[in-house]
Amino acid sequence: MSDFNEKFLSARVKNVQESQTLKVVGKISKMIKDGYDVVNLSVGEPDFPTPDFICDSAIKAINENFTKYTPNNGIIELRKAISEKLLKENNLSYTPEEIIVSTGGKQAIANVILTLCDKDDEVIIPSPYWVSYPEMVHLADGKCVIIKSDIDTNFKITPEQLKNAISPKTKIFILNSPSNPTGTVYSEKEIRALMDVIIDKDIFVISDEIYEHLIYGEIKHFSPAQILEMKEKIIVCNGVSKAYSMTGWRIGYAAAPEWIIKASGKIQSQMTSNACSISQKAALSAFMGDQSVVQTMKNEFAKRRDFMFEEINKIDGFKTNYPDGAFYIFPSIKGLIGKTLHGVKINNSLDFATYLLEKYHVGTVPGDAFGADGYLRLSYADSMENLEKAIKRIREAVKF
Ligand code: PLP
Repeated sequence: MSDFNEKFLSARVKNVQESQTLKVVGKISKMIKDGYDVVNLSVGEPDFPTPDFICDSAIKAINENFTKYTPNNGIIELRKAISEKLLKENNLSYTPEEIIVSTGGKQAIANVILTLCDKDDEVIIPSPYWVSYPEMVHLADGKCVIIKSDIDTNFKITPEQLKNAISPKTKIFILNSPSNPTGTVYSEKEIRALMDVIIDKDIFVISDEIYEHLIYGEIKHFSPAQILEMKEKIIVCNGVSKAYSMTGWRIGYAAAPEWIIKASGKIQSQMTSNACSISQKAALSAFMGDQSVVQTMKNEFAKRRDFMFEEINKIDGFKTNYPDGAFYIFPSIKGLIGKTLHGVKINNSLDFATYLLEKYHVGTVPGDAFGADGYLRLSYADSMENLEKAIKRIREAVKF
């Protein structure tokens, strides 16, 4: 046996949890590879192919040998296109110098957390949360302050809760609307009420708007950066992964005051340098091209959302709210906790997700991955045929 093993790992990495989502996804992939007919509703990416005109521009970039380092913060044409997008779609004015292009929205967010968060600084995160926020804060040696929300409030936190979570150590508040995993979308009025709580404080807001285009009802996307008095403390993070079905291309961005973008660029320059040159060209064509591709995917997601909402609410032990955005549904399965299903005792949501996967071949993500035991995340980024199959299997699985 070698003397060299995990004991040599840094305290930093020991303190970071492996992504629960990736763990479950790993198990699902293995079952699929082993030949099981698994309906995989654990995925966080659109099932549509990347539109042809976007792929064509990447092929053109390769053929033209656009394959070298680019400026660290991204090519100027792309930063200009993002600046125009923000003005046109969000009524937000940012110069290209106030924008950084990163390797996915994930790197854009991680850069900002590393840029602003010092040891023991507190970062307020509403739960259920996207799995990566707390771990990014841990990597920055910060402390997470979690505000809990549940299905009865449509997974929204109140200004009162935010107020109570603030301390002299609070540095950042992370807002994610539409939300992964709940699909919850805050209205303009609700965001204004939350911002009122921190408007006179030295607290920065990371506004993760990656699902902005996937909102299905009347409610409109609103960025807190539209509140002029707040803009100097807001970092808007977004990307092309979800809107254009480009998860593998790895292009995201942040828009914020220039001093924050410059500092984020400093971190990025020492970690990865520029995002992939070819993907930057592809993202440029996504912003400049025909936007009807976004609408087409959205219409399809809306139909699936309605189907999932209706069907899941009918299943014994499940209770769900009506999610306004993203492509996830996050039902409570508290009605099943403590029960024995076909000989398997269900003590928590991980038990249920494991049972569902192993015995009924439906892949989901347990709520505790998102800080909310007693819930289950099901992605409806899959064909109607597969969704119908999954519902049928889940119904079987909960039959007593
Ligand atoms: N933010 C949220 C809430 C997400 O769900 C994701 C991806 O799943 C991201 C950010 C990062 O997306 P990407 O790095 O693909 O741009």
